[in-house]
Amino acid sequence: MDDDDNALLYIYPKNIDVKRDVSEYSWLKDLFSKTKEGSLNYIGIVVEGVCSMGVHTCICGEMSTSVDYLFQNGMVTNSLYLHYLESHYSEIPQSEYNKLDNLQQGVKYNPCSKCRRVKCLGKYKRCAKCRGKKLIIQKSS
Ligand SMILES: [Zn+2]
Ligand SMILES: [Zn+2]
Repeated sequence: MDDDDNALLYIYPKNIDVKRDVSEYSWLKDLFSKTKEGSLNYIGIVVEGVCSMGVHTCICGEMSTSVDYLFQNGMVTNSLYLHYLESHYSEIPQSEYNKLDNLQQGVKYNPCSKCRRVKCLGKYKRCAKCRGKKLIIQKSS
């Protein structure tokens, strides 16, 4: 899942933090209530109405549902998203907070026209990786 820009808070915490107040994430709960259920495939695209292979159990015993959740901007999360923010925040990398910022700002995530992986593309049609490959081919020819 590391390669998927749009996969939010798919983390595997090793420690349990003292629960913190997550009321600042009420906007996130609102957005989550509008998500669609489905299953995240290997290229980071959610297939709606499909269950994933099973549930994930957190180190503290909290269990996820067996589906992923697709936000309207193309990002995906799991049912433990708020639990991680509440009880495992010290292990959430900065990159996840950056994704949260993007989500709050409504930054769109779309499939790259070449590799189909869902990325934060900005004004581009292809992801940085695919754009990079194209440049290398042009140089060597
Ligand atoms: Zn937990
Ligand atoms: Zn690509």
